[in-house]
Amino acid sequence: MSSDLRELYQQVILDHNRSPRNFKELPNATKRVEGYNPLCGDHYTVFVELDGDVIKDISFTGNGCAISKSSASVMTSSVKGKRTDDAEKMFETFHKLVLGEPAGLSEAELGRLAAFSGVSEFPARVKCATLAWHTLHSALQGEQEVVTTE
Ligand code: ZN
Repeated sequence: MSSDLRELYQQVILDHNRSPRNFKELPNATKRVEGYNPLCGDHYTVFVELDGDVIKDISFTGNGCAISKSSASVMTSSVKGKRTDDAEKMFETFHKLVLGEPAGLSEAELGRLAAFSGVSEFPARVKCATLAWHTLHSALQGEQEVVTTE
């Protein structure tokens, strides 16, 4: 990765950490799931408003490190208005990306998600980057109300 690209990606993460998108409670949420990463202390609640199989609205609240918060912000921005199965596919792609596996998509297709490709160099941060996505996955599957990475 070029240093320019790395710089750009860092800016995306810093920006979403400083002013996270969709950072609020959702009064009409049909799903509300907590996610916790004890290794880092990241703790979020993800709110989802489903309309059939479409994510009509999504938001999150909570606290954690810059990687986890910016990832939650990008996650909510990326899946809002999407079908749930497309959101799940996006999670699979994102997971491969942060593990450093081929995601099968170009940087352009990855869009904002590509900002987290550098996480693969820091295995301890993978759980930070995927926490919000795991929590979304749980919400969509209707599984337990509290998700932990451990
Ligand atoms: Zn973290």
